[in-house]
Amino acid sequence: MPFGHAGSPANRDGLVQTFTFKPFDMPANAAALREQVRAFIRDNMTDGDIARRANCWQVNDPDFSRALGKAGLIGLSLPRQYGGHDRSALERYIVLEELLSVGAPVGAHWIADRQTAPLLLRYGTEEQRRRWIPGIAAGEVYGCIGLSEPNAGSDLASVRSSARRDGDGWVLNGQKIWTTNAHIAHIMIGLFRSEEGSERNARLSQFLIPLDTPGITIRPIINLTGEHDFNEVFFDDVKLPADALIGEEGQGWAQATAELSLERSGPERYLSSMVLVTELVRHAAKSGDPAAIALAGRFTSEAWTLRQMSLAVAGRMAMGEDPALEATIVKDLGNSFEQAVPQLVQQVIELDLSSDDPLALLAAQLLQVSPSFSLRGGTREILRGIVARGLGLR
Ligand SMILES: Cc1cc2nc3c(=O)[nH]c(=O)nc-3n(C[C@H](O)[C@H](O)[C@H](O)COP(=O)(O)OP(=O)(O)OC[C@H]3O[C@@H](n4cnc5c(N)ncnc54)[C@H](O)[C@@H]3O)c2cc1C
Repeated sequence: MPFGHAGSPANRDGLVQTFTFKPFDMPANAAALREQVRAFIRDNMTDGDIARRANCWQVNDPDFSRALGKAGLIGLSLPRQYGGHDRSALERYIVLEELLSVGAPVGAHWIADRQTAPLLLRYGTEEQRRRWIPGIAAGEVYGCIGLSEPNAGSDLASVRSSARRDGDGWVLNGQKIWTTNAHIAHIMIGLFRSEEGSERNARLSQFLIPLDTPGITIRPIINLTGEHDFNEVFFDDVKLPADALIGEEGQGWAQATAELSLERSGPERYLSSMVLVTELVRHAAKSGDPAAIALAGRFTSEAWTLRQMSLAVAGRMAMGEDPALEATIVKDLGNSFEQAVPQLVQQVIELDLSSDDPLALLAAQLLQVSPSFSLRGGTREILRGIVARGLGLR
């Protein structure tokens, strides 16, 4: 389904940009794989606290992650030689979709599996891959993302934390902020300014930082629901060996941008509120309330459309393409959907938000955490700027 041909706005040079969402068929073994994941969930999902099923890719359960790794359901598309399973990106998508749609607690290993391991595979040394990827695929090594700083969020090129050469090695100084899971992670991939006085996105480098290195202080930031998801991380003369550098010195910007594509393109960008949709469908069937039935229908059709678009992105990535524009569109529309779900449920259905009705518990949790959905991984305004640029409008 190509968009943007006839009638599309042209940019200043008269060029018309397009974006494409081409349907992809699921692999032949999709049904069997889904059944395998569902059986795993039946056997291993024990947490009775239904609110923890909302926004589940930020809910940590190390036992669950380890069991998932043992079952061969993490590191699915990573090479076997590093402990992965050599499966396709679409097979990985199926596994994620099954886990996210029931609210499985996949937060502990999420970043490492989604981002850290693929980044090391692409830019890391053989030694770095062998040292870290097998533990990631086992669901035992967790990673975190060291991009944002107090004065460098949307404007990531303003990063000031520094990496200075020291003999063969490096010395890091500075501060990262909003670092999800730094308090449980084993490693951070961090972006640092590796040439003093360099400006904007020039001369930045990425480092692989074991978080037990002396000189690192991790302080919690408690979120609106009283939970500890993210942190401030301080670097005070942190000494790293030469082989902590990832990829090429000075190429950190290009590498971090590739990392953002991985961060923005997955099904988690529209499924964070899906457990509430499922609960709404149950409620509609039980109560027969026409307003609940209509809302369930609306959510189902929107979720189906987003899924087709998200799958189209996954399919193109599986073919080695980089559909960054389409991924950005899906993230923005997906975030709007997952934020609208709890708001509309609250408007349409009479809920006692202090009761222990599952619908009320999930809605209450999501009403509090969903404002963050359009901040994490790039804010709405930034994403729309990227889309506008991608379409040749600015
Ligand atoms: C739940 C959560 C988890 C996170 N986890 C991590 C993590 O693990 N690692 C990490 O590095 N970061 C993480 N972040 C940080 C996240 O990437 C930043 O919050 C985000 O990039 C925005 O940066 P900022 O908070 O500094 O806001 P700012 O950049 O200060 O933006 C403030 C507001 O101004 C708007 N704005 C800024 N610039 C422009 C512009 N040019 N045009 C129009 N509007 C603009 C923004 O859209 C936003 O609404 C996380 C954030 C959240 C909420």
